[in-house]
Amino acid sequence: MNESATTARLPWVALLPTLVVALGVLFLLGLDQGQALAAVQGQTAFDMNLIHELVHDARHAAGFPCH
Ligand SMILES: [Zn+2]
Repeated sequence: MNESATTARLPWVALLPTLVVALGVLFLLGLDQGQALAAVQGQTAFDMNLIHELVHDARHAAGFPCH
């Protein structure tokens, strides 16, 4: 049996959800300053900055402009 006849190529559109998730994780790990939790916590999210505090050392280690 021909291998290429049974193996369908993944269309590039199928990679879009992966790209969206990857960009979301990149934002959370590298850039978030309270925006991600603001919908739930309101102004408190910017005051407490929980995600920033959680990943702070990783941001500096990775070279992100943290603050
Ligand atoms: Zn920092």
